[in-house]
Amino acid sequence: MKQSLTFLLVSLVVFFSCKENTLGAPEDLNESQENSNSTPKNIILLIGDGMGISQITAGMYRNGNKLELERCNTIGLIKTNSKKELITDSSAGATAFATGKKTRNGMISQAMEDSTNYKTFVEYAEENKKATGIVVTSTVTHATPACFYAHYPRRYDANEAISEQFVNSGVDVLIGGGKKYFETRKDGRNLLQELTEKGYTIPDTLTSNFDTKEIFKLAYLYSPTQPGKRVFSEGDEAPSRGPILPLATQKAIDVLKKDTNGFFLLVEGSQIDWGGHNNDSEYIINEMLDFNESIKIALDYADQNGETLVIITADHETGGYAIIEGELDGSSLTVGFSTKHHSASMIPVFAYGKGAKNFSGIYDNTQIFYKMMEAFGNDLTK
Ligand SMILES: [Zn+2]
Repeated sequence: MKQSLTFLLVSLVVFFSCKENTLGAPEDLNESQENSNSTPKNIILLIGDGMGISQITAGMYRNGNKLELERCNTIGLIKTNSKKELITDSSAGATAFATGKKTRNGMISQAMEDSTNYKTFVEYAEENKKATGIVVTSTVTHATPACFYAHYPRRYDANEAISEQFVNSGVDVLIGGGKKYFETRKDGRNLLQELTEKGYTIPDTLTSNFDTKEIFKLAYLYSPTQPGKRVFSEGDEAPSRGPILPLATQKAIDVLKKDTNGFFLLVEGSQIDWGGHNNDSEYIINEMLDFNESIKIALDYADQNGETLVIITADHETGGYAIIEGELDGSSLTVGFSTKHHSASMIPVFAYGKGAKNFSGIYDNTQIFYKMMEAFGNDLTK
Protein backbone atom coordinates (compact mmCIF):
# COMPACT_ATOMS: atom_id res chain seq x y z
CA MET A 1 0.00 0.00 0.00
CA LYS A 2 2.78 2.36 1.01
CA GLN A 3 4.60 1.55 -2.22
CA SER A 4 1.64 2.32 -4.46
CA LEU A 5 0.94 5.59 -2.61
CA THR A 6 4.54 6.68 -3.11
CA PHE A 7 4.26 5.70 -6.74
CA LEU A 8 1.12 7.82 -7.15
CA LEU A 9 2.66 10.81 -5.37
CA VAL A 10 5.88 10.67 -7.36
CA SER A 11 3.84 10.37 -10.53
CA LEU A 12 1.69 13.39 -9.74
CA VAL A 13 4.58 15.57 -8.62
CA VAL A 14 6.63 14.77 -11.71
CA PHE A 15 3.69 15.21 -14.04
CA PHE A 16 2.76 18.66 -12.76
CA SER A 17 6.26 20.01 -12.20
CA CYS A 18 7.15 18.98 -15.74
CA LYS A 19 4.16 20.87 -17.10
CA GLU A 20 4.99 23.95 -15.03
CA ASN A 21 8.61 24.04 -16.18
CA THR A 22 7.74 23.80 -19.81
CA LEU A 23 4.83 26.24 -19.63
CA GLY A 24 7.30 28.86 -18.41
CA ALA A 25 9.68 28.19 -21.31
CA PRO A 26 10.34 31.05 -23.71
CA GLU A 27 8.24 31.08 -26.83
CA ASP A 28 10.30 29.78 -29.69
CA LEU A 29 9.94 28.42 -33.18
CA ASN A 30 8.56 25.21 -31.75
CA GLU A 31 5.72 26.95 -29.92
CA SER A 32 4.33 28.47 -33.09
CA GLN A 33 4.78 25.18 -34.95
CA GLU A 34 2.87 23.29 -32.29
CA ASN A 35 -0.20 25.51 -32.67
CA SER A 36 -0.16 25.30 -36.42
CA ASN A 37 -3.20 23.70 -38.03
CA SER A 38 -1.29 22.74 -41.12
CA THR A 39 -0.17 19.15 -41.34
CA PRO A 40 3.37 17.97 -40.67
CA LYS A 41 5.16 16.25 -43.49
CA ASN A 42 6.87 13.74 -41.23
CA ILE A 43 5.93 11.87 -38.05
CA ILE A 44 8.40 10.19 -35.69
CA LEU A 45 6.72 7.98 -33.07
CA LEU A 46 9.01 6.87 -30.25
CA ILE A 47 7.74 4.12 -27.97
CA GLY A 48 9.55 3.30 -24.74
CA ASP A 49 8.17 -0.19 -24.10
CA GLY A 50 7.18 -0.47 -20.45
CA MET A 51 8.07 3.19 -19.81
CA GLY A 52 5.88 4.57 -17.03
CA ILE A 53 6.33 7.78 -15.04
CA SER A 54 8.75 6.14 -12.56
CA GLN A 55 10.98 4.77 -15.35
CA ILE A 56 11.12 8.30 -16.80
CA THR A 57 11.78 9.77 -13.34
CA ALA A 58 14.60 7.35 -12.51
CA GLY A 59 16.27 8.11 -15.85
CA MET A 60 15.87 11.82 -15.21
CA TYR A 61 17.52 11.79 -11.75
CA ARG A 62 20.37 9.63 -13.03
CA ASN A 63 20.85 12.04 -15.93
CA GLY A 64 21.45 15.06 -13.67
CA ASN A 65 17.75 15.90 -13.14
CA LYS A 66 16.97 16.46 -16.80
CA LEU A 67 15.73 14.62 -19.86
CA GLU A 68 15.18 15.50 -23.51
CA LEU A 69 11.46 14.95 -22.86
CA GLU A 70 11.42 18.29 -21.03
CA ARG A 71 11.67 20.04 -24.40
CA CYS A 72 8.08 18.94 -25.10
CA ASN A 73 5.42 21.52 -24.24
CA THR A 74 2.50 19.22 -24.96
CA ILE A 75 1.78 16.39 -22.54
CA GLY A 76 -1.15 13.98 -22.41
CA LEU A 77 -2.10 10.71 -20.73
CA ILE A 78 -3.40 7.52 -22.33
CA LYS A 79 -5.51 4.67 -21.01
CA THR A 80 -3.81 1.42 -21.96
CA ASN A 81 -6.25 -1.48 -21.39
CA SER A 82 -6.66 -4.03 -24.18
CA LYS A 83 -10.06 -5.08 -25.52
CA LYS A 84 -10.29 -8.05 -23.16
CA GLU A 85 -7.78 -7.35 -20.41
CA LEU A 86 -7.26 -4.50 -17.95
CA ILE A 87 -3.50 -5.05 -18.21
CA THR A 88 -2.36 -4.86 -21.82
CA ASP A 89 0.57 -6.63 -23.41
CA SER A 90 2.78 -5.09 -26.06
CA SER A 91 0.89 -6.57 -29.02
CA ALA A 92 -2.55 -5.27 -28.01
CA GLY A 93 -0.92 -1.95 -27.05
CA ALA A 94 0.91 -1.59 -30.36
CA THR A 95 -2.19 -2.73 -32.30
CA ALA A 96 -4.05 0.20 -30.70
CA PHE A 97 -1.31 2.66 -31.80
CA ALA A 98 -0.88 1.11 -35.23
CA THR A 99 -4.53 0.56 -36.20
CA GLY A 100 -6.75 2.62 -33.87
CA LYS A 101 -8.50 -0.58 -32.76
CA LYS A 102 -8.43 -2.60 -29.58
CA THR A 103 -7.73 -6.31 -29.65
CA ARG A 104 -6.90 -8.91 -27.03
CA ASN A 105 -3.40 -9.59 -25.72
CA GLY A 106 -1.17 -11.58 -28.03
CA MET A 107 -2.71 -10.50 -31.34
CA ILE A 108 -0.74 -8.66 -34.00
CA SER A 109 -3.04 -6.09 -35.69
CA GLN A 110 -5.99 -8.44 -36.06
CA ALA A 111 -9.53 -8.55 -34.65
CA MET A 112 -9.88 -10.80 -31.59
CA GLU A 113 -13.22 -12.19 -32.84
CA ASP A 114 -12.25 -13.53 -36.26
CA SER A 115 -8.59 -12.59 -36.94
CA THR A 116 -9.58 -10.06 -39.60
CA ASN A 117 -6.59 -7.88 -40.45
CA TYR A 118 -6.71 -4.31 -39.18
CA LYS A 119 -5.09 -1.89 -41.62
CA THR A 120 -2.01 -0.31 -40.04
CA PHE A 121 -0.65 3.21 -39.98
CA VAL A 122 2.36 2.03 -41.99
CA GLU A 123 0.01 0.61 -44.64
CA TYR A 124 -1.88 3.92 -44.81
CA ALA A 125 1.40 5.86 -44.96
CA GLU A 126 2.69 3.63 -47.78
CA GLU A 127 -0.59 4.19 -49.66
CA ASN A 128 -0.05 7.92 -49.25
CA LYS A 129 3.43 7.55 -50.78
CA LYS A 130 5.24 8.32 -47.55
CA ALA A 131 8.55 6.64 -46.78
CA THR A 132 8.36 4.43 -43.67
CA GLY A 133 10.89 3.08 -41.21
CA ILE A 134 11.17 0.92 -38.10
CA VAL A 135 14.08 1.03 -35.64
CA VAL A 136 14.07 -1.11 -32.47
CA THR A 137 16.26 -2.74 -29.80
CA SER A 138 14.33 -6.03 -29.90
CA THR A 139 13.95 -8.37 -32.85
CA VAL A 140 12.13 -6.62 -35.68
CA THR A 141 9.51 -9.37 -35.45
CA HIS A 142 8.74 -8.60 -31.80
CA ALA A 143 5.22 -7.50 -30.84
CA THR A 144 5.58 -3.70 -31.03
CA PRO A 145 7.31 -3.35 -34.41
CA ALA A 146 5.36 -6.29 -35.92
CA CYS A 147 2.00 -4.62 -35.24
CA PHE A 148 2.98 -1.75 -37.57
CA TYR A 149 3.64 -3.89 -40.68
CA ALA A 150 2.26 -7.40 -40.07
CA HIS A 151 -0.85 -9.33 -39.04
CA TYR A 152 -0.88 -12.52 -37.04
CA PRO A 153 -3.15 -14.09 -34.41
CA ARG A 154 -0.38 -15.04 -31.97
CA ARG A 155 2.67 -13.00 -31.08
CA TYR A 156 4.74 -15.98 -29.91
CA ASP A 157 6.46 -18.38 -32.33
CA ALA A 158 5.51 -16.01 -35.14
CA ASN A 159 8.99 -14.76 -36.04
CA GLU A 160 9.28 -16.45 -39.43
CA ALA A 161 5.68 -15.66 -40.44
CA ILE A 162 6.18 -12.01 -39.53
CA SER A 163 9.57 -11.58 -41.21
CA GLU A 164 8.01 -13.06 -44.35
CA GLN A 165 5.30 -10.38 -44.25
CA PHE A 166 7.98 -7.71 -43.99
CA VAL A 167 9.29 -8.52 -47.47
CA ASN A 168 6.16 -7.17 -49.13
CA SER A 169 5.39 -4.45 -46.57
CA GLY A 170 7.03 -1.63 -48.51
CA VAL A 171 8.75 -0.43 -45.31
CA ASP A 172 11.90 1.38 -46.43
CA VAL A 173 14.13 1.17 -43.34
CA LEU A 174 14.29 -1.74 -40.90
CA ILE A 175 16.84 -1.84 -38.09
CA GLY A 176 16.77 -4.28 -35.16
CA GLY A 177 17.58 -7.84 -34.16
CA GLY A 178 16.32 -11.14 -35.61
CA LYS A 179 18.59 -11.80 -38.60
CA LYS A 180 18.05 -15.52 -38.10
CA TYR A 181 14.35 -15.26 -39.01
CA PHE A 182 15.30 -13.80 -42.38
CA GLU A 183 18.35 -15.88 -43.17
CA THR A 184 18.13 -19.36 -41.62
CA ARG A 185 14.51 -20.28 -42.07
CA LYS A 186 12.64 -23.56 -41.93
CA ASP A 187 11.22 -22.95 -45.40
CA GLY A 188 14.74 -22.47 -46.82
CA ARG A 189 14.01 -18.99 -48.16
CA ASN A 190 16.68 -16.33 -47.70
CA LEU A 191 14.66 -13.16 -47.12
CA LEU A 192 17.80 -10.98 -47.01
CA GLN A 193 18.56 -12.13 -50.53
CA GLU A 194 14.97 -11.31 -51.53
CA LEU A 195 15.27 -7.88 -49.92
CA THR A 196 18.52 -7.22 -51.80
CA GLU A 197 16.71 -8.03 -55.03
CA LYS A 198 14.05 -5.51 -54.03
CA GLY A 199 16.69 -2.79 -53.74
CA TYR A 200 17.51 -2.85 -50.04
CA THR A 201 21.05 -2.16 -48.90
CA ILE A 202 21.98 -4.69 -46.20
CA PRO A 203 25.19 -3.62 -44.44
CA ASP A 204 27.22 -5.83 -42.09
CA THR A 205 27.81 -2.99 -39.64
CA LEU A 206 26.43 0.48 -39.04
CA THR A 207 28.81 3.23 -37.95
CA SER A 208 28.50 7.00 -37.79
CA ASN A 209 30.52 7.16 -41.03
CA PHE A 210 27.97 5.02 -42.87
CA ASP A 211 27.06 7.02 -45.96
CA THR A 212 23.32 7.06 -46.68
CA LYS A 213 23.52 9.39 -49.69
CA GLU A 214 22.73 6.75 -52.31
CA ILE A 215 20.49 4.63 -50.06
CA PHE A 216 16.69 4.65 -50.27
CA LYS A 217 15.99 1.25 -48.72
CA LEU A 218 17.97 -0.10 -45.78
CA ALA A 219 17.72 -3.30 -43.71
CA TYR A 220 20.25 -3.75 -40.92
CA LEU A 221 19.70 -6.75 -38.67
CA TYR A 222 22.37 -6.41 -36.02
CA SER A 223 21.88 -9.61 -34.00
CA PRO A 224 20.73 -13.16 -34.77
CA THR A 225 17.92 -13.11 -32.18
CA GLN A 226 17.22 -10.60 -29.38
CA PRO A 227 19.93 -7.89 -29.17
CA GLY A 228 21.95 -7.43 -25.98
CA LYS A 229 21.50 -4.64 -23.46
CA ARG A 230 22.89 -1.14 -23.94
CA VAL A 231 25.15 -1.76 -20.93
CA PHE A 232 26.46 -5.31 -20.44
CA SER A 233 26.06 -6.87 -17.03
CA GLU A 234 27.58 -10.01 -15.51
CA GLY A 235 25.94 -13.20 -16.71
CA ASP A 236 24.35 -11.74 -19.87
CA GLU A 237 24.27 -14.14 -22.81
CA ALA A 238 24.41 -11.49 -25.53
CA PRO A 239 27.17 -8.85 -25.77
CA SER A 240 26.27 -5.18 -25.30
CA ARG A 241 24.57 -3.78 -28.40
CA GLY A 242 26.21 -0.37 -27.80
CA PRO A 243 24.62 2.94 -28.85
CA ILE A 244 22.86 1.44 -31.87
CA LEU A 245 19.42 2.97 -31.14
CA PRO A 246 20.40 6.67 -31.36
CA LEU A 247 22.72 5.94 -34.29
CA ALA A 248 20.04 3.97 -36.15
CA THR A 249 17.48 6.70 -35.46
CA GLN A 250 19.82 9.22 -37.13
CA LYS A 251 20.59 6.96 -40.09
CA ALA A 252 16.90 6.10 -40.58
CA ILE A 253 16.03 9.82 -40.67
CA ASP A 254 18.89 10.43 -43.14
CA VAL A 255 17.47 7.78 -45.49
CA LEU A 256 13.77 8.61 -45.08
CA LYS A 257 14.08 12.41 -45.35
CA LYS A 258 14.99 12.06 -49.01
CA ASP A 259 11.36 11.18 -49.82
CA THR A 260 9.72 14.41 -50.99
CA ASN A 261 6.31 13.17 -49.71
CA GLY A 262 7.59 12.88 -46.15
CA PHE A 263 7.96 9.90 -43.84
CA PHE A 264 6.76 7.95 -40.82
CA LEU A 265 9.39 6.49 -38.49
CA LEU A 266 8.75 4.22 -35.52
CA VAL A 267 11.55 4.03 -32.93
CA GLU A 268 11.21 1.65 -30.00
CA GLY A 269 13.33 1.51 -26.85
CA SER A 270 12.23 -2.11 -26.48
CA GLN A 271 14.20 -3.16 -23.44
CA ILE A 272 12.95 -0.69 -20.81
CA ASP A 273 10.20 -3.31 -20.53
CA TRP A 274 12.66 -6.17 -20.04
CA GLY A 275 14.35 -4.33 -17.18
CA GLY A 276 10.88 -4.07 -15.61
CA HIS A 277 10.14 -7.77 -16.07
CA ASN A 278 13.53 -8.57 -14.48
CA ASN A 279 12.82 -6.11 -11.64
CA ASP A 280 16.27 -4.69 -12.47
CA SER A 281 16.43 -0.95 -11.86
CA GLU A 282 19.90 -0.45 -13.39
CA TYR A 283 18.72 -2.18 -16.58
CA ILE A 284 15.68 0.11 -16.73
CA ILE A 285 17.79 3.24 -16.16
CA ASN A 286 20.45 2.33 -18.76
CA GLU A 287 17.78 1.59 -21.35
CA MET A 288 15.93 4.79 -20.43
CA LEU A 289 19.11 6.85 -21.02
CA ASP A 290 19.64 5.07 -24.35
CA PHE A 291 16.07 6.00 -25.32
CA ASN A 292 16.71 9.58 -24.14
CA GLU A 293 19.62 9.88 -26.62
CA SER A 294 17.33 8.67 -29.39
CA ILE A 295 14.64 11.17 -28.42
CA LYS A 296 17.27 13.92 -28.75
CA ILE A 297 18.01 12.88 -32.35
CA ALA A 298 14.29 13.06 -33.22
CA LEU A 299 13.67 16.42 -31.50
CA ASP A 300 16.80 17.98 -33.03
CA TYR A 301 15.61 16.86 -36.45
CA ALA A 302 12.17 18.40 -35.81
CA ASP A 303 13.88 21.68 -34.86
CA GLN A 304 16.01 21.68 -37.94
CA ASN A 305 13.33 20.45 -40.37
CA GLY A 306 10.30 22.48 -39.18
CA GLU A 307 7.78 20.07 -40.75
CA THR A 308 8.07 17.16 -38.34
CA LEU A 309 5.82 15.97 -35.51
CA VAL A 310 7.47 13.90 -32.78
CA ILE A 311 5.38 11.81 -30.36
CA ILE A 312 6.91 9.95 -27.43
CA THR A 313 4.89 7.49 -25.39
CA ALA A 314 4.72 3.89 -24.11
CA ASP A 315 2.39 0.93 -24.48
CA HIS A 316 2.18 0.28 -20.72
CA GLU A 317 4.20 0.39 -17.52
CA THR A 318 6.21 -2.69 -16.47
CA GLY A 319 7.11 -3.78 -12.96
CA GLY A 320 4.93 -1.46 -10.88
CA TYR A 321 8.22 0.36 -10.42
CA ALA A 322 8.56 3.07 -7.74
CA ILE A 323 11.38 5.18 -6.33
CA ILE A 324 11.22 4.94 -2.56
CA GLU A 325 14.44 6.60 -1.39
CA GLY A 326 17.60 8.00 -2.84
CA GLU A 327 20.27 10.68 -3.13
CA LEU A 328 19.31 14.06 -4.59
CA ASP A 329 21.89 13.71 -7.35
CA GLY A 330 20.34 10.40 -8.43
CA SER A 331 23.57 8.50 -7.81
CA SER A 332 21.72 6.03 -5.65
CA LEU A 333 18.03 5.27 -5.92
CA THR A 334 16.21 2.78 -3.73
CA VAL A 335 13.34 1.34 -5.70
CA GLY A 336 10.54 -1.15 -5.34
CA PHE A 337 8.62 -3.32 -7.75
CA SER A 338 5.08 -4.53 -7.20
CA THR A 339 4.98 -7.08 -10.06
CA LYS A 340 7.13 -8.96 -12.57
CA HIS A 341 4.55 -8.09 -15.23
CA HIS A 342 2.87 -5.02 -16.68
CA SER A 343 0.69 -2.63 -14.69
CA ALA A 344 -2.47 -0.70 -15.57
CA SER A 345 -1.36 2.86 -14.81
CA MET A 346 -2.02 5.55 -17.40
CA ILE A 347 0.96 6.44 -19.57
CA PRO A 348 2.25 9.89 -20.52
CA VAL A 349 2.35 11.14 -24.11
CA PHE A 350 4.84 13.87 -25.05
CA ALA A 351 4.48 15.70 -28.36
CA TYR A 352 6.76 18.17 -30.12
CA GLY A 353 6.85 20.03 -33.39
CA LYS A 354 4.25 20.70 -36.03
CA GLY A 355 0.72 19.74 -34.92
CA ALA A 356 1.82 18.67 -31.42
CA LYS A 357 -0.96 20.49 -29.56
CA ASN A 358 -3.53 17.88 -30.61
CA PHE A 359 -1.90 15.37 -28.28
CA SER A 360 -2.76 17.03 -24.95
CA GLY A 361 -5.52 15.71 -22.68
CA ILE A 362 -6.54 12.28 -21.38
CA TYR A 363 -7.63 9.77 -23.98
CA ASP A 364 -7.56 6.15 -25.10
CA ASN A 365 -4.39 4.61 -26.59
CA THR A 366 -6.28 4.06 -29.90
CA GLN A 367 -6.45 7.86 -30.28
CA ILE A 368 -2.71 7.98 -31.01
CA PHE A 369 -3.55 6.36 -34.37
CA TYR A 370 -6.41 8.77 -35.17
CA LYS A 371 -4.39 11.81 -34.11
CA MET A 372 -1.49 10.71 -36.33
CA MET A 373 -3.89 10.07 -39.23
CA GLU A 374 -5.34 13.55 -38.75
CA ALA A 375 -1.86 15.03 -38.65
CA PHE A 376 -1.19 13.47 -42.05
CA GLY A 377 -4.47 14.91 -43.34
CA ASN A 378 -6.62 11.73 -43.26
CA ASP A 379 -9.35 12.19 -40.66
CA LEU A 380 -10.85 8.71 -40.14
CA THR A 381 -12.86 9.81 -37.10
CA LYS A 382 -15.53 11.48 -39.29
ZN1 LIG B 1 6.48 -6.62 -21.35
